[in-house]
Amino acid sequence: MFRFDLQHESNGARRGVFRTPRGDVQTPGFMPVGTVGTVKGLTIDQVAATGADMILGNTYHLRLRPGHETVARLGGLHKMCGWDGPILTDSGGFQVFSLGALNKVTEQAATFRSHLDGSKIELTPEHSIEIQQALGSDVAMVLDHVIALPAEQAVVEDALARSIRWAKRCRDAADRPEQALFAIVQGGLDPELRRQCATELATMPFEGFAVGGLSVGEAPEEMYATTAVTTVHLPVDKPRYLMGVGTPRDLLENIARGIDLFDCVMPTRNGRNALAFTDDGPIKLRNAVHREDTRPIMEDCPCLACRHSRGYLRHLFNANEMLGPILLSHHNLTYYGNLMRQTRQAIEEDRFHAFAAGKLRGWGYEPMDAVA
Ligand SMILES: [Zn+2]
Repeated sequence: MFRFDLQHESNGARRGVFRTPRGDVQTPGFMPVGTVGTVKGLTIDQVAATGADMILGNTYHLRLRPGHETVARLGGLHKMCGWDGPILTDSGGFQVFSLGALNKVTEQAATFRSHLDGSKIELTPEHSIEIQQALGSDVAMVLDHVIALPAEQAVVEDALARSIRWAKRCRDAADRPEQALFAIVQGGLDPELRRQCATELATMPFEGFAVGGLSVGEAPEEMYATTAVTTVHLPVDKPRYLMGVGTPRDLLENIARGIDLFDCVMPTRNGRNALAFTDDGPIKLRNAVHREDTRPIMEDCPCLACRHSRGYLRHLFNANEMLGPILLSHHNLTYYGNLMRQTRQAIEEDRFHAFAAGKLRGWGYEPMDAVA
């Protein structure tokens, strides 16, 4: 029911289509994050208009509120939020990690306290799959053991070994053919551990593979290097998803290293904070320089924000009007969606490297080293 068609490669970048029962996902692609069953501030039609094929829901948050059983009784995540395309749910592993002192990991489970009411919750690999089945997502993720970087070698190795054992338990528990299961490669910044983890997971029947444990405090160059040493050990005929990443620069640098899918709160979170992404780098719309600026954020941008002047958008934020965050979230997701569309076209036309170099220069970065 799931298939990945790799259609073209250009300078290490891959152009493909991930086929799911609820529709095709064009890759490289970006998934807007709908943490609790909503992409914050936007209607589902507005999200679709940004060019997104697949959105993401957070298992941890939906488990706590409204509760996965309630979601199921409301008809599942698709029906509840009105999105009939594919949805990917994470496993809760990253949220458990981000709770820090509130969590404890044993071989059996990750135990944590709810950030809402302090109640104690035990998340086993099997329970994570059970929740994701109740939500009814099209792609489920295995539960992994995420750690902060930098970490001691023994800590990294322990988390990696546990993540592989938990991936097996998730594979055994996931028994619905209409729901794909992606494995998650861990291993910190160590190329040998990444190789071990990727190679071992690649022997198991997963529909896709994620690179996890990045964007947790390491430098961008360390992230890119780790992606490169991981993707070479993953099957070419399965989609590769870099979790929780990132800036527009991160997207292009990692696409050059063989990544197909991304998700990140960056476009929406920054949009709520008056920061707009453009080809000339980010713009802070609260700045006084925009006070009487009649230009849109970007000429030729089809989003809802770019029908208005920068001066009006600045005013909305200064007046704390809810329309400001809504419009900028829509602009930023449209910017990410267009970036992915342009990237796919550049790969198809064998000019990815020149395309990426032009974008990076516009954002103020050195063009990437030739890779692959
Ligand atoms: Zn716009």
